[in-house]
Parts: sequence; structure tokens; C-alpha cells
Amino acid sequence: MDVLTQPVLVLNATYVPVAIRTVKDAVVLLILRKAELIRDEKGLFIRSEKLKFTTPRIILLTDYYKVPKRKHKLSRENIFLRDDHECVYCKRKLPSSKLTLDHVIPKSRWEEIPREKKPRDYHTWENLVTACKDCNGKKGNKLLQELKWEVPENRSTNKRRFPQFSVSTQLVEKFGWADYIRS
Ligand SMILES: [Zn+2]
Repeated sequence: MDVLTQPVLVLNATYVPVAIRTVKDAVVLLILRKAELIRDEKGLFIRSEKLKFTTPRIILLTDYYKVPKRKHKLSRENIFLRDDHECVYCKRKLPSSKLTLDHVIPKSRWEEIPREKKPRDYHTWENLVTACKDCNGKKGNKLLQELKWEVPENRSTNKRRFPQFSVSTQLVEKFGWADYIRS
């Protein structure tokens, strides 16, 4: 897994989490002095010909005070970032090109599930997860119960709230974000 595509927690100037960006984006913001480093991973370096950086895990935008009201855009890459580029079913970590978006409850089965047992809509943060091509292929239009597969962590109650969407506990712990994201 390329370290440059790993997620970085972005805080505004008052330490409120406002986004998740890639390590690559974070390094650019640090070089441009638009951000300060709050937490890094000391032993893990990013090198170019002239520069050497430790890997940022949390950065702070020094001149940004807003808390965005608009929701984070529901996109392929944002779902992959939330799930740390890991297939939620087989737990393999893969580059974006080898990943797919999976609708946990497939569209063809949506109507047969009672309202109280499904997210409010089909194409939402709650019903979308990162899956590798193999798992997505195997899953087809089946429900998890039919495959005896576990419900992905980010759809269970085991998650931490980000202002606009949920981040898996695993991600929070792995990258040391717990001081800034409340349960
Ligand atoms: Zn998989």
C-alpha cells in the first residue's frame, strides 16, 4: 500500500476535524505552509530528491476557521478513504484501481428489506463500502445473511462520528486520531 494514499485527519484552526485527505495532499499543504503538523509517524519517511518528511497523520489548517456544513461529497475515493482502501469483506488493502464500491444491500433487493432494517436510502454512506473485485463478484446480488458474511464494521455501531460522516474505529486507532474524533 502506497503511503501517499493513506488518510490524514485535517483539523481547522480551532482543532475541529473538517476533512480527511491523503498523505500526498497533506504534504503539499505543509510545504505551502497552509497547514501545521499536529501528529506524524516518526519512523516512516516520505522522500523526494530534495526533501525528507515524516508521514503526517493529523494536520491543522492554520487560517481556516469554518466548519463545513456541506456534507463530504459521496464519491468513490471518499468511500475508499473512509475504509482505508481495505476491502471490508476480505480485509485486503489494495490501490483504488483494484477496488470497487459495493452496495451492501443490492439495488435489486432493496424493496424486500423492511424500512427499519436498512439505511434511509440505497446510494448513501451507510449502504456503500469498499470491496475488492473478487468479493464484489462473489457477492453479486446476494445479501450478507445469505452468504454468512459479517456486517462491515463501518455499518455497525462500532464507529466514531466525524462531523459529517462516520469513520471506522479501526482507522481512528490505527492513525492516532482519537484525541480529535469523539465517539
Ligand atoms: Zn475482498
